[in-house]
Amino acid sequence: MSVLDTLRATVGDAHVREGTDAAPYLTDWRERYRGHALAVVSPASTDEVAAVVRTCATAGVPIVPQGGNTGLCGGATPDDSGRAVVLSLRRMNRIRAIDPYNDTMDVEAGCVLQSVQDAAREAGRLFPLSLGSEGSCTIGGNLATNAGGTQVLRYGTMRELALGLEVVTARGDIWHGLRGLRKDNTGYDLRDLFIGSEGTLGVITAATLRLYPLPVASCTALVALSSIDDAVALLSLARRGLGASLTGFELMAGDCLASVTRAFPAQRLPFEGNAATLPWYVLLELSDSESEAHARERFETVLGDAVANDSARDVVIASSFAQSRALWHLRESIPLAEKAAGKAVKHDISIPVSRMAEFVRDTNEALQHIFPGVRHVIFGHLGDGNLHYNVAPGAGWTDIALLARQEAIFDVVHAHIGRVGGSISAEHGIGQLRRDALAQFKDPIELALMHTIKHALDPHGTMNPGKVLIADS
Ligand SMILES: Cc1cc2nc3c(=O)[nH]c(=O)nc-3n(C[C@H](O)[C@H](O)[C@H](O)COP(=O)(O)OP(=O)(O)OC[C@H]3O[C@@H](n4cnc5c(N)ncnc54)[C@H](O)[C@@H]3O)c2cc1C
Repeated sequence: MSVLDTLRATVGDAHVREGTDAAPYLTDWRERYRGHALAVVSPASTDEVAAVVRTCATAGVPIVPQGGNTGLCGGATPDDSGRAVVLSLRRMNRIRAIDPYNDTMDVEAGCVLQSVQDAAREAGRLFPLSLGSEGSCTIGGNLATNAGGTQVLRYGTMRELALGLEVVTARGDIWHGLRGLRKDNTGYDLRDLFIGSEGTLGVITAATLRLYPLPVASCTALVALSSIDDAVALLSLARRGLGASLTGFELMAGDCLASVTRAFPAQRLPFEGNAATLPWYVLLELSDSESEAHARERFETVLGDAVANDSARDVVIASSFAQSRALWHLRESIPLAEKAAGKAVKHDISIPVSRMAEFVRDTNEALQHIFPGVRHVIFGHLGDGNLHYNVAPGAGWTDIALLARQEAIFDVVHAHIGRVGGSISAEHGIGQLRRDALAQFKDPIELALMHTIKHALDPHGTMNPGKVLIADS
């Protein structure tokens, strides 16, 4: 029997896609990468995943795991060879169990993030991971990329939100690690190894997730600012005044919000006059466990202090749920407005908050010197020290001309990241986009240990080859 016949017999003919049916799975969200595949295979259970992996391992067929295909580094797109099988987890979308007393839920890898948030809320609990792509991305993809998003400040990244995993190894064995334990010191932490491994070590089929109490009240505000220094001062003030109640702190350049209102005219900036044209804005969120009045009083005190000490130039506090959603919608629309505006050279960087202003000033200057006229599209999760620092075509540039200089732009930005003690990937991962840069910038001992782990867990190199690590270097 051929590999394809065996795969059809395992998951059913309807769940092995070829030709045009497979096309949507062979390009990434940004349409930067296009690949080919033997087929797209969609198993419905962990046993079926294991059988597919065993078939591929025996035949030496590479496997590219895929969830919602919203990743931003080309990690879920196969190469050009047409040899790989794309393993789509989307049919594995059951909530297996919710344990409200243990504050945990067991979910399958193909569950869409939003459906997990909804199921938690129906059980009177909060699952706090929150991303602009939450209507399409899956828990498996969130784990495989160690996703971050807008609530990391309070609840941490996906690594902090997962207590246990179920994984199909590269040999096709099933590791039953769905444990709802906060403490478990029984040797090496395999869970943390598979989280963030981007499908290069095994296939995540299910997870035990950590739940939290639902906040009783929340407040949202948009603050207009003159500088990143002022944003950093506001963050420090808000942290001191609000403590763990500060659940979101998002920085956005005025240009980013202008591109949102251009691309989506129904959206408006809630400021007028000078405050509508300032270079920086911050979206803050507070979640309170007492009452609406308590939340608002604390929020107004902190924001009043910020206005009094001149770090905030103007403030709008949402007075209803709809207004709060409208403010968040502005922030969440930035990647969509950016996509509509054309291609850009993207960076997802992590740097100490205290060096944020210096980094942006020096890197902007260096880029203007070498590539005059490029536009700087800057936004991100300032509370976590995470910026999306993107370089877009400005006057005199086309998409094609800019992308032709991508590696040179990476070099400039990565050198500045190194200078301030940062990282070239904060939350999007490495995939194929940053694979070569990782080899260049990672500590050599750390990189060698990563290769040792890859060889130990995936000796034949069939798990998502060409992603994260350069093969056999
Ligand atoms: C509009 C928009 C906003 C975004 N905002 C954020 C944000 O704020 N924060 C953030 O962190 N990311 C963000 N992202 C990026 C993306 O949504 C996340 O990386 C997400 O976690 C990917 O999930 P997915 O299911 O789409 O994974 P995919 O894109 O399908 O896959 C991503 C990687 O995970 C691997 N993978 C997928 N499923 C599995 C599995 N079950 N087992 C093993 N490996 C697997 C793939 O091989 C690939 O390497 C955003 C993307 C978009 C389009």
